Amino acid sequence: MKTADGILYFDNAATTYPKPESVIRAVTYCMRESGGNPGRGSHTMALRAAEEIYACREEAASFFGASEAEQVIFTMNTTHALNLALKSVIRPGDHVLIGSMEHNAVLRPVSALASLGTVSYSVFSARGTDAQILSGIRAKIRSNTRVMITAHVPNIANTALPIDKIGSLCRQRGITLIVDGAQSAGHLPIDVGRMNIDMLCVPGHKGLYGVQGCGMIVCGSEAITHGRTLIEGGSGVHSLEAGMPDELPERYEAGTLPTPAIAGLSAGIRFVKQQGIASLHRRECDLWRRLYTDLSAMPHVRLYDSTPGSVLLFNIDGISPAEVSEKLNQRGICVRSGYHCAPMAHKTLGSIDNGGVRVSFGAFHTERDVCRLRDEIWNIARQ
Ligand code: PMP
Repeated sequence: MKTADGILYFDNAATTYPKPESVIRAVTYCMRESGGNPGRGSHTMALRAAEEIYACREEAASFFGASEAEQVIFTMNTTHALNLALKSVIRPGDHVLIGSMEHNAVLRPVSALASLGTVSYSVFSARGTDAQILSGIRAKIRSNTRVMITAHVPNIANTALPIDKIGSLCRQRGITLIVDGAQSAGHLPIDVGRMNIDMLCVPGHKGLYGVQGCGMIVCGSEAITHGRTLIEGGSGVHSLEAGMPDELPERYEAGTLPTPAIAGLSAGIRFVKQQGIASLHRRECDLWRRLYTDLSAMPHVRLYDSTPGSVLLFNIDGISPAEVSEKLNQRGICVRSGYHCAPMAHKTLGSIDNGGVRVSFGAFHTERDVCRLRDEIWNIARQ
């Protein structure tokens, strides 16, 4: 899928582009017709905005298997959701488990808490068979392990953690499971109830095809119910009280929500449902296989992970990832280079020296797009 001036976009793991027409229509419709402030007043326009938001809560709750719309807490993005989920439940003295492929959105909040001396953390290996991963996790559990926070799918490889099995283990051991669904929401089926996920943190703007400006925590349990708040302020309810309300989701949603982005997210989830997660995933894997096979045959091109999916990391010997990405950019192709905010994952994959070039697919790519990308990579590699 190209822009009007022919630019080919392969950075969907950062944010999906283009957005479906239905999402663009939903955002503009909301701005034109439902422009009040949700939950602030009882006039028609405030109520319309509140209805947009409630409709998205219902859509998201049913999409991710939450029991009620109130189990969906809106945030600004995944990073905000992960910080809120973690900091709401963590207590001094707790031990936290994270995986070896985490994004900085997980590593940095955990490490910030650890540097205050309030919590400690350990890293389990997120690579290997399910049995190896689970036994690695068991070996790291301590008597004070209270929280696991980990990516379902990392952002530079396609290997998914066996979250359902990890969920059962965490439930048995009384560990709160927080899942970073930034790269799996909209790509793989997720059911917070069936998978025993306490809090699923997802973006609106990636695989759910909404616009930038909102994310969510989808709660699969009561873990966050009376937790600590990250920010406090107006919620539209219990205004005479100085403290934040106890109820979900108001307790964690101080301030005005991004109603147009949330209206767009409802349309994005409907788009993913209409396309079907399985069929979206199958198409991404087909495109991935095409590119992987062709790149494998090119001398000087190095590949890191052989699991098909929506992202592909590569390097060309002798040229820095930034230079490769700049050369592709000059040829009208957008990819991301560097460390992708994921030093742990680069260490695990063996690409920590320079990072890599990441290609990431979306719902609108065609095989022709992939062939154009492949040809340009070849032109760069053979120089
Ligand atoms: N976790 C992972 C695995 C990611 O890929 C990203 C996005 N790069 C994030 C968290 C952060 O997402 P957001 O930009 O929505 O905060």
